[in-house]
Amino acid sequence: MRLSRAFLPTLKETPAEAQIASHRLMLRAGMIRQTSAGIYAWLPAGYRVLQKVGQIVREEQDRTGAQEILMPTIQSAELWRESGRYDDYGKEMLRITDRHEREMLYGPTNEEMVTDIFKSYAKSYRDLPRNLYHIQWKFRDEVRPRFGVMRGREFLMKDGYSFDLTKEASVHSYRQMFVSYLRTFARMGLKAIPMQADTGPIGGKLSHEFIILAETGESQVYLHRDLLAYDALAETPDYNGDLSPIVDFWTSRYAATDEMHDEAAWNAIPAEQQVSARGIEVGHIFHFGTKYSAAMGLTVTGPDGSTVTPEMGSYGIGVSRLLGAIIEANHDEAGIKWPDAVAPWAVSIINLKPGDAATDALSEKLYAAMGGEALLDDRADRAGAKFADADLMGLPWQAIIGPRGAANGIVELKRRATGERVELSFDDALSRIKGN
Ligand code: ATP
Ligand code: MG
Repeated sequence: MRLSRAFLPTLKETPAEAQIASHRLMLRAGMIRQTSAGIYAWLPAGYRVLQKVGQIVREEQDRTGAQEILMPTIQSAELWRESGRYDDYGKEMLRITDRHEREMLYGPTNEEMVTDIFKSYAKSYRDLPRNLYHIQWKFRDEVRPRFGVMRGREFLMKDGYSFDLTKEASVHSYRQMFVSYLRTFARMGLKAIPMQADTGPIGGKLSHEFIILAETGESQVYLHRDLLAYDALAETPDYNGDLSPIVDFWTSRYAATDEMHDEAAWNAIPAEQQVSARGIEVGHIFHFGTKYSAAMGLTVTGPDGSTVTPEMGSYGIGVSRLLGAIIEANHDEAGIKWPDAVAPWAVSIINLKPGDAATDALSEKLYAAMGGEALLDDRADRAGAKFADADLMGLPWQAIIGPRGAANGIVELKRRATGERVELSFDDALSRIKGN
C-alpha cells in the first residue's frame, strides 16, 4: 500500500474518550472507527490484522480436525425457547421483530443453532465425533461497552462446538481445544494462561478461561511462575494421541481468576513462585455434557442399537478483542510494536526524498519485492513526521531509504520492537525482512 493513496486516517491528537493504550493506539493508527457505542468499522490497517488473527485461529482449529462452517448472525427466538435460554439471557440479547412479527435475535453465541443443524444430520454413532466452528460477528448489548474492541457490543468471535458419543471422548475433544488454544495464542506472540473457570449460564463442570497478562486487564489473576516459562510452540502435538501430559502440566500448577481464587492453595506456593497480575480473557472453553443435546432432542443410535444423547463442548476465542490484547502487550510511548505474525504489513518503507531518482528506484524495488506486505511512505512530508507515523503504525520493520544510501544500494533497517538499526545491501535487507 502506498501511503500517498492509502486510507489510513492517523490522528495526531490522543482521542479523549480512549482510556487504555490499545484503544488510543487503534484510533490514532487509523485502524478502527466507532460508529455507535461499542460498534466499530474496521479500516484497512485494522481489517488486515483482524484477518491475520482470524487466519491463525483457523489454521490451528483445522489442525485439530475441526471443520469451519458459517452460521448466520440473525437467529430465531424459537430455537432459544427450546433450550430455555431466551428468557434467561436478559438484556444482553438484542431482540428483533421481523415484518411478520416473528421474534428474532442477533446471536450472542450459537449453541442452540449448531445443535439444531447437527441434529438434522447426525443419526448414528458413526456421525461422531465432530467439531464445527465458525468465525462470525456476535452482538451482546453490554451495559458498559468500553476499551474499544476489548469490550464491544458487536464483536468477532471464533466459536466451536464438539459432539461426542461418550463423556470420555468429549473430554478428549476438550483437551484438543485446550492444547490448540495454547498454540493459537503463542503464534500471535501472546502468552495465554489457562485458568479454571466458573461455567456460568452455559452450564456444566469443566471450563477454562485463557488469560493474557496485561496491566489494563479487567480481571485480577494469580498464578504459579512455572506457567510463564512454558513454550507452547516447542513441539507439535498429536491431536489424536494422548494430550494429558500437556494438560496436566497446566492443571497441576496454580492459576486462578479472582472469582475462583483459593487463598489456602495460594499460600501454599513459595512466595517467589507467586505471580499476581491483571489479565485479559481472550478465550473460554466449556465442557457442558448433554445440556443442549438433551434440551433440543439431539440423539444418535449407539453401536449396540441404544439411543445416545451426545456430549458437547463449546469453545470461544475473542478474535476482535485479541487486537486490543496484542497491542496492550506490545506497545510503547511512540506506538504499536506488532508481532511479525499479525502485523498489518511487514515493513514501512520510508522514502526520505521522493523525487530523487535513486531513492525512488530503490524504494519501489523493495516495495515490489514485498508483494503487498509493505507500506510505502512516498508522501512529500518531512522525515520526522514519517518516522513518527512509522513508529505509531508499528510495523515490525522500517526500511529507511535516502539519497546517500540509495546511491550505493544501501537500506537502513530498523527493528521496531527493539529499536536496533543496521545498514544492509538491498538483498540482505530483503531477506532479513522476509526471514523474520
Ligand atoms: P467476559 O467475561 O469478558 O464478558 P464472556 O465470558 O462473556 O467474556 P464468552 O461467552 O466465553 O465470553 O465468549 C468467548 C470470548 O469472546 C471471550 O473469551 C472474549 O475473548 C470474547 N468476548 C466476550 N465478550 C466480548 C465483548 N463484549 N467484546 C469483545 N470480545 C468479547
Ligand atoms: Mg460477557
